[in-house]
This record gives sequence, structure tokens and C-alpha cells, in this order.
Amino acid sequence: MSFFVGLARLRAKPTKNDLSGAAMSLFIQNIELHTPEQVIPDGVVLVENGIIAGVGPRGSVLRLSAAQVIDGRGLVLAPGMIDLQLNGAFGHDFTSDPASIWTVAAGLPRYGVTAFLPTVITSPLEAPRAAMEALCQKPPAETLGALPLGLHLEGPFINPAKKGAHNPAYIRLPEPDSVRDWTLQNGVRLVTLAPELPGGLELAAQLLACGVVVSAGHSMATLEQARAAFDLGVRYGTHLFNAMPPLDHRAPGLAGALLEDSRMVAGLIADGIHVHPAMAALAWQAKGSRGLNLVTDAISALGMPPGKYHSGKQTIFVDGVSARLADGTLAGSILTLDQAVRNLMAFSGASLAEILPAVTSTPAWLLGLERKGRLAPGCDADLVLLSPAGQVYLTVVGGEVLYSQL
Ligand code: ZN
Repeated sequence: MSFFVGLARLRAKPTKNDLSGAAMSLFIQNIELHTPEQVIPDGVVLVENGIIAGVGPRGSVLRLSAAQVIDGRGLVLAPGMIDLQLNGAFGHDFTSDPASIWTVAAGLPRYGVTAFLPTVITSPLEAPRAAMEALCQKPPAETLGALPLGLHLEGPFINPAKKGAHNPAYIRLPEPDSVRDWTLQNGVRLVTLAPELPGGLELAAQLLACGVVVSAGHSMATLEQARAAFDLGVRYGTHLFNAMPPLDHRAPGLAGALLEDSRMVAGLIADGIHVHPAMAALAWQAKGSRGLNLVTDAISALGMPPGKYHSGKQTIFVDGVSARLADGTLAGSILTLDQAVRNLMAFSGASLAEILPAVTSTPAWLLGLERKGRLAPGCDADLVLLSPAGQVYLTVVGGEVLYSQL
């Protein structure tokens, strides 16, 4: 079964709403709407059958009598957040236990996340295959949660000189023939590779031809090597500044190439640890919400107490603030996506309205998903209700309220 058949089944699952017919529609009012192209101070949204049926200023959209009414109490309504790099959460690691994707998905709406890319790090090729298999399977009955949009395969075709916390034993040179099954049809949405490696551009071209978004990361690419990859169609840079040479005014490298090229979207881990707040602010100024995409890179320790965790076969020590290997190397984060938004607001001084596209419309655009990341008629009803400071109050996935603190 293909990934898309699995997704269609997930979306078509029977719910109690289907049986009663009473709560098939939602009417959300008294909200500041961030569409995010515009901000409507006193807006309303009508949701029918999991799709946005109407959106606009108060009075512009009719409320169906059968609709469940949600009073937003002056909060902000935005498209649901999309995390392009999540390694696991709640004690589960996707690389070693891909079947946990659905369990983790169920917990993500509390952070305002409505869609995500389960991320598998450098490991034997059996690991991404198992994750592709898990994703193409029908999820357990009654599974409700954020929607996995396909896998992010981070490695194993990365530069050993910038391995970060990836296990060097499994890093390999690009082998296009070994990964002919890495296609969007099979559930692979994004691949991080080091384009400067022998065969790197050939592999990138093969993946692009299979509908996969290709990202440059864990890389020693020079400016020229990065530009060659961008000209080929690589459009993303994995966790800007991390696992790449530092920004140097005489040798801009991958970081400089990502900052300078307006075609490129750069992922950023805005926990204030992976990247200094001043450099995060600099990246924001250079790229804006159209070119910067906040990710968590969170590991299995997300939502869990401090202690010892695993990412693939690596042991990671979590102290309540950061996640590190025994030698101190950062190994993913315990950052939540809503916290990343609040952090970048603090680091940059930008408003919630300015930053939200970095976790909504920009990742949706990068993945080519026209019905996600926007509030417009016909779009998927993936919504988040936030305070002006970015605190999550309510999350709707596919028209269903999956988290509420109202
Ligand atoms: Zn990484």
C-alpha cells in the first residue's frame, strides 16, 4: 500500500461526529485571524467536514445552526503548526521504533502542532525502510493526532566531518542505486544530505525526480558547492548554523549560501542553545518568515522528565534544558514548536503575526501542500488558537478539536 492510501484511510476514519452528524461543523468566533497573509482583527471561521468552508471578518460568514460554536475570547486563530524535523517524543524514538509515529502524533496537538515529518537519523538502510513501512500501514483504529506528512530522512549520506550526534558507523557515501525506493509515493518527503560528497548531486537529482524535497545539511559544502545544489533544485537547509561550518566573512559556506539566496528556506532550532539568540535574530532579519522555518529537532525526551534517552543507538543525556551525548555534543532538543515561536519573538522582537508563517505557510509551501498552512476556503481545517504571547489554547486537526484549554 502506498503512503497516500494510508493517509486517505486516516482522513476517512469514522468518528462519532460522522455518526451523529451534529458536530460535523465548527464555528469559531471572536478571534484575531492570522491567515497568515493578512490579520483580521475580529474574524470568524466556519469548518465543515474537516475543511475550511468560510473565513473572514465578523458577519461575513454565515453560522450553520448545527455548528458547534467556539468562542475564541479575543485569542489569535492561525493555521496549525508544521514541524519538519521531529525525531520522537514522549519516550518514543522514530529511528528505533517507527511504529510509535501514531502514539507520538496523538500528543503533538498540545503544542499546536497539526502536521509533522517523523525524522529518521543516520542508521542502516533497514531503519528508513521500516519507517516507510510503518507510515504506509493503516494506523491503529481511533488514532487521532497530528498528521504525519511523510518522513524526513536525515542521513546516512552526510559528511562525517559534520556528523553532530549521528553514529559515524552508519554514515555512507551517496549511493543512488541503493535508495531507488526513496520516493514520495513510498512516504519519503524530505531528505537531508551533504551535496558536496561524491555522488551527492546525482542522488539529489534522483530524489527530486521522485517528488522528494532535498535539503543540504550535516555538510562541509563551500558557497560554490551549495549554489550548485541550489541550482539543481535543493530548496532547504537543515538546522542553519548547526552541523555546518560557522559563518565566515571570507568563506561563507553553506550558512552564508542559505542566508544569501532568497530561493532557500533554512530550518532553525530556536531553543537559544543550538543557535545563540543574537544569531537567530540575525537569521530572522536575513530570511524573514518566508525564508526561515522553525523546527524542534526534538528527541524522544520531549515531554518527558530529565534522564537518559536514546536516538537511534546513541545514548543521550537530558538535563531538563538540553539533550547531549556523553561528550557534550548536542543531540537534538527538547524544544516544543510553540516554545520555538515564543523564543524567536523574544530573540528578534518580531510579533506573533510576523513569526507564525515560519511554522505554517512556509513549511507547507516548501512541501508543496496548497491546502495546509493557510486559512482559506477549501484548505484543511488544521487550526490553532493562541494567546497574543503564543500560548496554545486549542488545536483542531482535520476539523476535530484534539486539544483544548478553553
Ligand atoms: Zn541534524
